Amino acid sequence: MADKRDYYEVLGVDRNADDAALKKAYRQLAKKYHPDINPGDKEAEMKFKEASEAYAVLSDPEKRRQYDQFGHAAFDGGAGGAGAGGFDFSGMDMGDIFGDIFGDLFGGGRRSRGGNGPMRGADVRTGVRITFEEAVFGCEKELDLTLKEECPTCHGSGAKPGTTPETCSKCGGKGQVVFTQQSMFGMVRNVQTCPECHGTGKVIRDKCPECYGQGYQSARKKIQVTIPAGIDNGQSIRIRDKGEPGTNGGSRGDLLVEVIISRHPIFQREGYDLYSTEPISFAQAAMGGDIRVRTIDGDVLFNIKAGTQTGTKIRLRGKGVPSLRNKENRGDQYTTLVVQVPNRLSADAKEALKQFDMLTGNTLNQPTDERGDKKKKKGFMDKVKEAFDD
Ligand SMILES: [Zn+2]
Ligand SMILES: [Zn+2]
Repeated sequence: MADKRDYYEVLGVDRNADDAALKKAYRQLAKKYHPDINPGDKEAEMKFKEASEAYAVLSDPEKRRQYDQFGHAAFDGGAGGAGAGGFDFSGMDMGDIFGDIFGDLFGGGRRSRGGNGPMRGADVRTGVRITFEEAVFGCEKELDLTLKEECPTCHGSGAKPGTTPETCSKCGGKGQVVFTQQSMFGMVRNVQTCPECHGTGKVIRDKCPECYGQGYQSARKKIQVTIPAGIDNGQSIRIRDKGEPGTNGGSRGDLLVEVIISRHPIFQREGYDLYSTEPISFAQAAMGGDIRVRTIDGDVLFNIKAGTQTGTKIRLRGKGVPSLRNKENRGDQYTTLVVQVPNRLSADAKEALKQFDMLTGNTLNQPTDERGDKKKKKGFMDKVKEAFDD
């Protein structure tokens, strides 16, 4: 083992490196050379072993001190009886090191701590579709759901009435088993969820006939949801303790109800404001006055000034969506006025429009090749001018 590389050199850190620096260096090397990533690559495997050994020693303060003092000799042929030199891993909990380093690297398969402690039930997600108006003003909805309920026969224990679950003999009720395994580092200790009791620490000999030992039953349930005024599309309402039942005395999870809001034919929503368009007639636009505007509360009258152009935006304060925090605070409505051009005219309306056209001095529709007409028109316009100039 004379040609063994220096542990600090292997990890590429200096001799004063702290724990965080060691871990970071090792993680990087492990990521690169892990056998799972380089199947069949002997050199990668060797590098991985080398780095793992260096990390195992340097991350242990006592071993690091010995190594700093004696170098590799500190571990050669020493206690532990590993035989032909080399580092003896048998005394170490490699499971801990791997859990620490690889916990989030390889899917966290070793995260089974906690065993048979109380575990909160999982949250259950569902959705509900409501109308635009229901979202604006709030509503009550009844959901029909299949939920897991505690079994009424065994009250959740899963054991036949009159019997109780026994402590698991395989794990002694701990829910976890520790086993040692021969690996390329020597013996490695591993902690695993108990295969006998699946981490509950208890074994049911006589299963409850009602729930087949599961401790819960699926049941159709009607659940009342209060949807607050102002809720927006995609927001969720959390209903406490209506999720899946917990295990080992843990609390239930929550029910999360996502709200889907149907589109409205007139209004578009942006935050708490509403947007719409409103058609108005040419006469209304030209003369101004009260026009009818549709709002989520019903029609309202809005006074526009004479000569309002198409595309004019008006704002109706407080006609938007109520704030989720305070119903009294509402957004605004922004409405774009669109002047309509009539496409069907009665004979009388046509006549009136011709009159109007002449009165406003527009000659586009007048024949230009007839002098008589023009003259006549001039005289007529003079009269109009007189009337308006007053
Ligand atoms: Zn039962
Ligand atoms: Zn067990």
